[in-house]
Amino acid sequence: MSSKLKLSKEGLKDIAVTVDSYRIRVLIDAKKEILEAGIYNEEQYEEILFKMFDEELLKYKLFSYLSNPDSDNFKAIKKFSELNSIEVRKTLSLLELLKNENLIEVNEIYDTIEGDENTPESTSFKDFDIEKYDIDPSKVKSIYEPVKTIFETHNCSGCGLCVGICPVNCLEVYNGFGKIDEDKCIRCGLCYYVCPRSYLPVSVLNMTQNESSEIKNYSQVGHYLEAYSARTKLKDIAKVCQDGGITSTCLHYLFDSKSINLALGAKMSKTPWRPEPIVLKSKEDILSTTGTKYVNNPNLKVLNELNKNQSSLAVVGVPCMMQALLKSSIYNIGIPSLNQIKYRIGIFCMESFSYESLLKICETVKVDVNDVKKTDINKGKFFVYTNSGEEFTVPIKEIGHLAREDCEVCFDLTSESADISIGSIGSPSGWNTVLIRTETGKELYNKLIENDLIESKALADVKPGLPLLERIAKSKRNKCTKHIDKKKEENLRFPQY
Ligand code: SF4
Ligand code: SF4
Ligand code: SF4
Repeated sequence: MSSKLKLSKEGLKDIAVTVDSYRIRVLIDAKKEILEAGIYNEEQYEEILFKMFDEELLKYKLFSYLSNPDSDNFKAIKKFSELNSIEVRKTLSLLELLKNENLIEVNEIYDTIEGDENTPESTSFKDFDIEKYDIDPSKVKSIYEPVKTIFETHNCSGCGLCVGICPVNCLEVYNGFGKIDEDKCIRCGLCYYVCPRSYLPVSVLNMTQNESSEIKNYSQVGHYLEAYSARTKLKDIAKVCQDGGITSTCLHYLFDSKSINLALGAKMSKTPWRPEPIVLKSKEDILSTTGTKYVNNPNLKVLNELNKNQSSLAVVGVPCMMQALLKSSIYNIGIPSLNQIKYRIGIFCMESFSYESLLKICETVKVDVNDVKKTDINKGKFFVYTNSGEEFTVPIKEIGHLAREDCEVCFDLTSESADISIGSIGSPSGWNTVLIRTETGKELYNKLIENDLIESKALADVKPGLPLLERIAKSKRNKCTKHIDKKKEENLRFPQY
């Protein structure tokens, strides 16, 4: 066990509560089922158990600390972080967990900043008002929910991470919809813990991206360091890519420089326009993944095949997948495949469709799906290009009802939780918009330039540029808020952002 504890009476009480926590007990009790399922070996199982123990212990330590006088504010949260040598954002992630488990209530207090004719009124974070419920955690025997509840309430993004980490392999997500084998489920709640649609501490994600200890407002496209418009110089990629080919060029460089030996992405299956996850093993595999796919594809589910060997991995995925990965790196519970991820390459996503809905769109524009060469969403229209060079369009407004209902509660257009985000909105045709979010993303992008693999311009120098991207990102956020408000009104479950 890696926890270093000061063995005070309080410390011992926290340990006792942790050992008795359902999350820990169930992992201990179901050791046999977990090892028989073969997703994790004994050493990996122990790593997960002890990491989870450390997380739970720290959480209960924070819960005890909140009983101290004057501990209901941000200053106290900073103090707890200092006392335990952890980042403020780590403490905030535990605070979110306690909130989600109904052990505390947290109100955020904001100051209003008056606007003028050029700047609208805005708010800035001032403090927390934390109320600790008078509950003895040793008496709370909460059973952690599996993500069945997320599937059934139309909140599932279809990212696939729950399938990718479930220790007994009892989940499946296909075509954007999830299923659970309840007889096999041990109710460990690990799926709920990593799911981006159970609860998602958005301000902690932003602080992590920004490596910051302060809570502040971010732009409509989240935290980013630099913004570019770019296109590939690699001829093989340029010939087949949808826009500027930057995603494929990133993978090309990473394989070539041996920075990764595997990458996770999506390719078309044998059924036309039905994508499936792929583990790319070399740069030769990249060409099979080019092109935008609008049918939901749970890439992250294949992570459960990657626990056996040590690898360096890049994951290409849509915003909900990047959120799932960043959330699970903040609540690090030692899942081996997640620890191998070195790069999060996010792509823009407005919405996704089931395969059946894509077929209906093809019917609407009267094109046989076998004859579709490329699909695209641009300027408010869905474009279908055929093998014979024809172009058909339908306004998004007319097919909006075909998008997955679960995507209605998604606020993120630009993969705010990625190291580097890539899309087409904001750049001229044939170019990609690129947002560099982290130092890892910055280093990767600089290498593409140094190795003469891409042409790059500041996004500020191209039209329509950032204003369009921010406008569309804002409209996605507003739609999400509207749908969440509707769920609240109807007393339906909604994701805790
Ligand atoms: S959002 Fe992802 S992790 Fe959550 S239930 Fe759906 S597929 Fe699973
Ligand atoms: S479905 Fe979720 S709760 Fe059930 S065993 Fe798998 S990870 Fe645990
Ligand atoms: S709209 Fe959101 S939830 Fe839906 S696929 Fe895209 S990123 Fe995921």
